[in-house]
Amino acid sequence: MAFDPPIEPLIELRGVNKHYGDLHVLQDINLTVSRGEVVVVIGPSGSGKSTLCRAINRLESVESGAIHLEGRPLPEEGKALAGLRAEVGMVFQSFNLFAHKTVLQNVSLAQIKVRRRKREDADRRSRELLERVGLAAHADKYPAQLSGGQQQRVAIARALAMEPTVLLFDEPTSALDPEMINEVLEVMRQLVDEGMTMVVVTHEMGFARSAANRVVFMADGKIVEDRPPEEFFTDPHSERARDFLSKIL
Ligand code: ADP
Ligand code: MG
Repeated sequence: MAFDPPIEPLIELRGVNKHYGDLHVLQDINLTVSRGEVVVVIGPSGSGKSTLCRAINRLESVESGAIHLEGRPLPEEGKALAGLRAEVGMVFQSFNLFAHKTVLQNVSLAQIKVRRRKREDADRRSRELLERVGLAAHADKYPAQLSGGQQQRVAIARALAMEPTVLLFDEPTSALDPEMINEVLEVMRQLVDEGMTMVVVTHEMGFARSAANRVVFMADGKIVEDRPPEEFFTDPHSERARDFLSKIL
């Protein structure tokens, strides 16, 4: 009899808790993300979605529980932490590009500093990635010369340049004008097709329906539902989810 090999969880959170003062922002969070999975996290503002993302690459510490990446606990500090941030790429709502560096420099910088690549190797890879996100012609511009959608695609190229194991997106299209949302979602869909493991906080329900393997619905610091999108959107179990969906759909 043949056995399927166990699917190793890429990210695993077990019993994770965090407070901000009296606010219990992450309440006993259990979440597993397998290699190649796309998990979309949705929920009302203030429910802890960003804190959850930030905990996964240790931009925030947690008080109890365990977070494992590829079976190992997240590193606490030092060089290993910089390595973790490269391994777990993050794309923010606000792009967070370096304003005084060119597009090319933005994509190359961490490759040189963290991955210890030579500048010419880093730049070569950066140009390939800029080509991939449709920005080859903009390599020598500064972020302020680009549209929001273009800046966000630079941020995605920058995260990809580190050859991450997983990419976290925290509302990547929320700061964009409507006509620019699709160009960013298109790049994200391309990554999905390539098998990238992704955790995506978004209000783009079309993306959630078509690209996610699972939808995680959060409210008040808890994971309330964690189900395939076709089930979640047609038959949400919780009152909180029904209420949320009625407001945004
Ligand atoms: P979401 O991303 O779902 O909107 P967040 O994770 O950003 O939620 O925030 C969850 C709650 O924690 C909110 O009530 C927010 O005001 C609070 N919060 C977030 N960051 C901090 C912080 N650094 N200090 C104090 N409270 C915070
Ligand atoms: Mg948020």
